[in-house]
Amino acid sequence: MVKLLDGKALAAKIEADLSQRVEKIKQNTGRTPILATILVGDDGASATYVRMKGNACRRVGMDSLKIELPQSTTTEQLLAEIEKLNQNPDVHGILLQHPVPEQIDERACFDAIDIKKDVDGVTCLGFGRMSMGESAYGSATPQGIMTLLQDNGIEIAGKHTVVVGRSAILGKPMAMMLLQANATVTICHSRTQNLAELVKQADIIVGAVGRAELIQHDWIKQGAVVVDAGFHPRDGGGVGDIDLKNIEQKASAYTPVPGGVGPMTITTLIRQTVEAAEKALSA
Ligand code: NAP
Repeated sequence: MVKLLDGKALAAKIEADLSQRVEKIKQNTGRTPILATILVGDDGASATYVRMKGNACRRVGMDSLKIELPQSTTTEQLLAEIEKLNQNPDVHGILLQHPVPEQIDERACFDAIDIKKDVDGVTCLGFGRMSMGESAYGSATPQGIMTLLQDNGIEIAGKHTVVVGRSAILGKPMAMMLLQANATVTICHSRTQNLAELVKQADIIVGAVGRAELIQHDWIKQGAVVVDAGFHPRDGGGVGDIDLKNIEQKASAYTPVPGGVGPMTITTLIRQTVEAAEKALSA
């Protein structure tokens, strides 16, 4: 039978557990975990994502500290804000919403986040530690995908996994997490030749490409596990990076779009913030 990798249901289950952990922190320390969110500029989609993350904090009893900076912000100004948050003992996690306006050196700003507060897993140090099997908060979207696969009992070790996309926040950390879980990993990108042939070999496919339905139905091997990180609004609903029409006839398990990867991303960010707060407040 085809397994639905239901991110919405798993995220709700994890949030129920997080609410209890937050309550325990409050009772034991009198403090409330806080996620600082930084939104730079006036991109509407980014503002929506930040609002959703703030709402998720409230659902589990945490607070969020909203920092909003103008479109004209410089790298130096953003670095100064991040440094203030690094020094603020009331802040346990920092989220810098990607993308920032183009005049800003985003990589320098991500890397300025204290590793102890890098709950979105965006620093080079965190990526390097995760890749080496050392403890670090994972990049939220791929970490959420790993949780979804593991919670559903999907076997990863020894499987051929094809990740389509190699961005810093998604494709690359996804590939390293799968490698850490002993998969054989192929990473594809815009210069890859014979993409269809590579995807056809995949036991597990991760679509992280940002192009609507680029990965076609007939590229998917019978019995494959299909994970789709994409979302492209269409006809009042939406489609992913993979053509999921009639996917039940092909896949052994798949993430729906929406309701698969998306909810797991936010829940992972919140979970990692709760962990950071537990560590900071027990120190
Ligand atoms: P991105 O930064 O635009 O990266 C896209 C990647 O796809 C790049 O590595 C690019 O290759 C590759 N690519 C583009 N066209 C290709 C083609 N024709 N063939 C093969 N590879 C191609 O995107 P992203 O931020 O990683 O996001 C990827 C998808 O995940 C998007 O649909 C996005 O909306 C979704 N996403 C979802 C969440 C969530 O929470 N649900 C979070 C983040 C992203 P090059 O490196 O060679 O340019």
